[in-house]
Amino acid sequence: MAKNQQNTLEKIVSLAKRRGFIFQSSEIYSGLNGCWDYGPLGVELLRNLKDAWWKAMTYREDIEGLDASILMHPRVWEASGHVENFTDPMVDCKQCRSRYRLDVLYEGFNEKRRKKIADAYAEYLAAGNGDAEAFKAQEREKQMEIAGDALADQAPVFEAMNEKQLLVCASCGGTGTFTVPRKFNLMFKTFVGPVEDNSAVVFLRPETAQGIFVNFQNVAQSTRQKLPFGIAQIGKAFRNEINTKNFLFRTREFEQMEMQFFVRPGSDEDWYRQWRDIRMQWYLDLGMNPEKVRLTDHPEDKLAHYAKEAVDVEYLFPFGWGEIEGIHNRTDYDLGRHQEYSGKSMEYFDQEQDARYVPYVVETSAGASRSLMAFLVDAYDEEELEKETRTVLRFHPKLAPFKAAILPLVNRDGMDDIGLKLYRDLQKSFKVFYDDSGSVGRRYRRQDEAGTPYCITVDSQTLEDQTVTVRDRDSMEQERVAMDALKGYLLEKLAD
Ligand code: ATP
Repeated sequence: MAKNQQNTLEKIVSLAKRRGFIFQSSEIYSGLNGCWDYGPLGVELLRNLKDAWWKAMTYREDIEGLDASILMHPRVWEASGHVENFTDPMVDCKQCRSRYRLDVLYEGFNEKRRKKIADAYAEYLAAGNGDAEAFKAQEREKQMEIAGDALADQAPVFEAMNEKQLLVCASCGGTGTFTVPRKFNLMFKTFVGPVEDNSAVVFLRPETAQGIFVNFQNVAQSTRQKLPFGIAQIGKAFRNEINTKNFLFRTREFEQMEMQFFVRPGSDEDWYRQWRDIRMQWYLDLGMNPEKVRLTDHPEDKLAHYAKEAVDVEYLFPFGWGEIEGIHNRTDYDLGRHQEYSGKSMEYFDQEQDARYVPYVVETSAGASRSLMAFLVDAYDEEELEKETRTVLRFHPKLAPFKAAILPLVNRDGMDDIGLKLYRDLQKSFKVFYDDSGSVGRRYRRQDEAGTPYCITVDSQTLEDQTVTVRDRDSMEQERVAMDALKGYLLEKLAD
């Protein structure tokens, strides 16, 4: 990561803590890696984000909501493929016991070292192992990538690299000190009931999607929905990530916002295209900078085992582009597998076509925590003013933790009483903030840092004509608004 980008992330993490957005979990005990707490402003931001998603996804006639439990029958995870496939290759440094996800270790090497690894891999192939011809045909950069992949797949290649001391531990600097790669399952295990034996093992769900699949028939029958229709859910998911990093980007506990759209086979490609556009537009409608968000298709040879087509919504974080949402055409894979493992029919009877079939699924799978981080980074701005630098979070009003702050200019002449009354009135409809201490300039800056879009000031003119000033966070311009028109004014700004 470039230094100034690193600084930007550090500044955002520090602002997030200082202003009460995000705290490290269990901070007074030196923190728990990969876990974060949402403070008073953070929890509002997260709720607003989830509400915006919930409204966009379920306030329509063809999507139903669901809240499934986190613990599920262990067979669910066998059917879904998670017990077998939800693994990352992991290596340990024997010297200092640091643990790495292999691809992360490899990515951390500079060009020179990666070239050496590619050369060593070429040598290994030339000695009669693997497919040397295919390797030669690749571009240089691609070759390095292949060598990286090979480390994960083939223990002997890895040992050769180890022997040549090409692998360096970032923590202790040891070379050639790694264990061979092992598969590490990312699901957290626990036990139901008092006996901790194999028959009592359950997992904390690593995604919310399976709760939707196993309830497909329940929802279809109780709502009498006809295909195509979807089921949406927001909830916590847990992954025992080997390396957590980049603040909220990769954590061990996080929240997902997922929707599975069940469709007639044959209409899946069309629905997939529609959902990719709808989901991309959602980020733009919430004010995300169009130059920093993009769709990236998964090439066919990199598709997950269940997917026919897949695209990521990516955001340009200070450390580079990163996925914030995946849209997948999952075919009838999931319902088919649950039908097979549970022995219960997942078929749908299509009256129009007089046919019975297992529906196809188009999935939109977003991270609430990860997109919160994207919106936070996107909103962060430092503006050079005449005498100072103004730090401001330019959230869309719908996302902003406080919609307005009420600031009496001074604490006397009845301005504070009017301010308090206004605060209590507006509080019935909006999350608002009241602040009567310090200079008004300083109070504006504090609200800029909290991302509050409007500051309402009660001044001496208010005493005469019942108007207040409303200062816009972004333009810093002020206009006078009658106090009794304020609610309508804010409602209009928050409307779709
Ligand atoms: P990655 O490749 O980054 O691990 P993924 O492809 O495994 O992500 P999905 O399984 O498609 O991710 O999960 C859907 C969404 O859930 C992601 O787009 C992301 O927003 C969120 N997500 C997944 N893993 C994490 C995590 N460890 N921390 C925070 N959010 C996550």
